[in-house]
Amino acid sequence: MKEVVLRLDNIHVRYGGIHALKGVSLILSKGEIVTLIGANGAGKSTLLKAIMGLEPLAEGVITYENKVIFQAFSDSGERPVSTPAHCLPGMGLVLVPEGRGIFPELTVKENLEMGAFLQRDKVNIQRSLEEVYEWFPVLKDRSSQRAGFLSGGELQMLAIGRAMMSQPRVLLLDEPGLGLAPIMVQKIFEIINKLNKEKGLSVLLVEQNARQALKVADRGYVLEIGKITLSGSGQDLLDNPEVKKAYLGG
Ligand code: ATP
Repeated sequence: MKEVVLRLDNIHVRYGGIHALKGVSLILSKGEIVTLIGANGAGKSTLLKAIMGLEPLAEGVITYENKVIFQAFSDSGERPVSTPAHCLPGMGLVLVPEGRGIFPELTVKENLEMGAFLQRDKVNIQRSLEEVYEWFPVLKDRSSQRAGFLSGGELQMLAIGRAMMSQPRVLLLDEPGLGLAPIMVQKIFEIINKLNKEKGLSVLLVEQNARQALKVADRGYVLEIGKITLSGSGQDLLDNPEVKKAYLGG
C-alpha cells in the first residue's frame, strides 16, 4: 500500500448558514494525481481552502504526512489543532489558487522569487529558479517582462512555477484550466503529469474540465453540494454513465 500523504476525515465547513462541506473524506497517496470534479458551487474551492487553513473546520480532521494539521473541536474532547497557513509551504504543501494570485506589476522572475520566500540560501533559490526554467522555458524567455503582459496559459505556468519554487511535495491546484483555450489546457495538464511522473509530486487537482482531469488522474472523487457522491480510478469515472451525463457532456 502506498503511503498516504494527505487525509481528510469527515470535513465540515460552514459559511454562516451555508453548509458548504458536509462530511467530506478523501485521501491522496504519495505520487498520486487525484482529481476532484464537481459543478459550480459544489464546494471544491472550499475544500482546498480548508486544507490550507484558509477556512476553519466546523468538524473533522486533516492529516498531512502523518501529522494532524487541522482539527475542529469535537464532542469526544479532542483538542482543536490549527497550523498557521504560512507554515504549510515550508512543510511541502502548496496551493496554486484559482485566479493564480500573480502580481502583474512585478516581472516573471520577481514573481517566481516570491515563491521561494521561505528560503534564505541564495544558491538554493537560484537552483530552484533554474529548475523552474527547465520545466517552463517560456518563463525563462520572459523572465524580465512584467507578468501583466503574459497570456492566460503563461500566467498559469507562472503560478505553477512559483509554487514549485518552494520545492513542494504536495501541490493543490484550483482549476488550472479555467479560462484557457483547450490546447493550452492540454499543455498545462501535460506539465502537471510530467511533474508528477518525473519529480514524484503528489497532486490534488480541482477542475471543471472533467475529461482532461480524469485522463491524467490516478483516482478521482465527485463532489456534489458538499458531499462526495462517487469515487474511483480516473478511467472508472470516465466510463461511469452518471459522470458522463453530468460532467462529460453526455
Ligand atoms: P466554483 O467552481 O464556482 O469555484 P466551487 O465548487 O469551488 O465552485 P465553492 O466556491 O467552494 O464551490 O462554494 C461552495 C458553496 O459555498 C457555494 O454555495 C458558495 O456560494 C458558498 N461560499 C463559498 N465561499 C463563500 C463565502 N466566502 N461566504 C459565503 N458563502 C460562500
